[in-house]
Amino acid sequence: MKLYEENQLKVYNSLSKSKELFKPVNDGYVGMYVCGPTVYSNAHLGNVRTFMFFDVVYRYLLHLGYKVRYVRNITDAGHLENDADEGEDRIAKKARLEKIEPMEVVQRYTVDFHDVLKNYNFLPPSIEPTATGHIVEQIEMIKEIMEKGLAYEVNGSVYFDVLKYNETGNYGILSGRKIEDAIHNTRTLDGQSDKKNPQDFALWKKADERHIMRWPSPWSDGFPGWHLECSVMSTKYLGEKFDIHGGGMDLKFPHHECEIAQSQTCSGVTPVNYWMHTNMLLLNSQKMAKSTGNFILPNEILSGENNVLGKAFSASVVRFFNMQANYRSILDFSGDALEASEKGHSKLMDAVNYLDKIEANKTSTFDVNSWKDDCYAAMNYDFNTPVLISHLFEAVKNINQIKEGKASLTADDLNVFSKSINAFVFDVLGLMNEKTEGNNSDKLSGVVDMLIQMRKEARENKDWALSDEIRDKLLALDIQLKDGKDGTSFSIN
Ligand code: AMP
Ligand code: ZN
Repeated sequence: MKLYEENQLKVYNSLSKSKELFKPVNDGYVGMYVCGPTVYSNAHLGNVRTFMFFDVVYRYLLHLGYKVRYVRNITDAGHLENDADEGEDRIAKKARLEKIEPMEVVQRYTVDFHDVLKNYNFLPPSIEPTATGHIVEQIEMIKEIMEKGLAYEVNGSVYFDVLKYNETGNYGILSGRKIEDAIHNTRTLDGQSDKKNPQDFALWKKADERHIMRWPSPWSDGFPGWHLECSVMSTKYLGEKFDIHGGGMDLKFPHHECEIAQSQTCSGVTPVNYWMHTNMLLLNSQKMAKSTGNFILPNEILSGENNVLGKAFSASVVRFFNMQANYRSILDFSGDALEASEKGHSKLMDAVNYLDKIEANKTSTFDVNSWKDDCYAAMNYDFNTPVLISHLFEAVKNINQIKEGKASLTADDLNVFSKSINAFVFDVLGLMNEKTEGNNSDKLSGVVDMLIQMRKEARENKDWALSDEIRDKLLALDIQLKDGKDGTSFSIN
């Protein structure tokens, strides 16, 4: 029996605004699409909060035994400034300012994004498709929408006819916007907009002569509208109707509203069963955002090179900090909050590291199975990670009591207890055990210090050959010795 058969997972659906029992389209399989980054700059910690939560959703679904196809795209074209239908493409603008190719911008920030994900222990998605890799499919979808009579061409650009769609569909179903308020951000200079109605949004934009990211189409040399790629790629890889679609709350409108309208027009069915949206990470009480300069980069936290924090923090502590908040609540980032998380994280890891040393007893003094059920219940209740963490701290309390001889577990219970803690801490939350990694680096430092001492003795004995050999062999291992007035130090490259 698979774990998902024993667990009643409930998911808060932004569409119905209620927690619903999770039932996948195909038994045992889950299709999940999460809007990925627009790679015109480094992903900041706010972006990472959203992606990290969906990493934990992915991890938990896998833990329950589902076969998951997780698609997270890379937006490398079509996302204009201010999420608008006019203005410059974010990537093209960066390329123009830096005098490099747009694809150099895309490459640089995709590599950076992957570096962050690796440092923060993300599982890679099953497919990571790009907008530019699906231009042909996007043109096909526009043709289909036009054939259904819900899009029109003006001066080489194609727009989705929102008012017409709304005659039978429900534009605003997700964001709750009334049709008259759902006006797209377009610069209507002197009424210049090509749109029939301000609610309409672009499916294809004709490129002006300065716009370097352009592709041929039946309508003009141009580029696809931002919302189209996600409809195309989710349908292509997950089908017309799939289970979970995620992103940050700020994507509900216009992005996800438009996705629903496009997909529904083509297939005739509502494309997504469960819409999930994460709340925002704040810095200085404001949304963390690239555009306002109010952000911190994930790798700057690891290196300590930033103006926000007094010291460096580990990736696992940042993960733990994120998971201490419910994904639907805003979360305030600060050095004090991270320090508190660091203390909690350390207590948790000390307890986890003690698990191997516990010896079984004849009796159990606490109910391991009921504790384990509580952990599953927390995750089953809309991935409630802060409640899961509170149960993990009950486990810490029990481990510490065992340490002091005040509690005990039978061999069977110890086995269940230990397996469950490891599963929730490492497999589901994706935390990393830096204590053991730290032990290894302590050992390495000890060995290098020993070799530095031996080299010092060799030099005192004028045994230059041995002294040079120690230095060169360490250098071959990328360990560089530096002789200074206070003795010899080393760095690992
Ligand atoms: P973008 O690269 O701007 O398309 O954003 C990538 C993802 O990060 C989207 O799902 C956004 O909703 C999300 N996001 C942006 N800013 C924040 C923030 N401050 N906190 C949480 N998620 C965010
Ligand atoms: Zn999207």
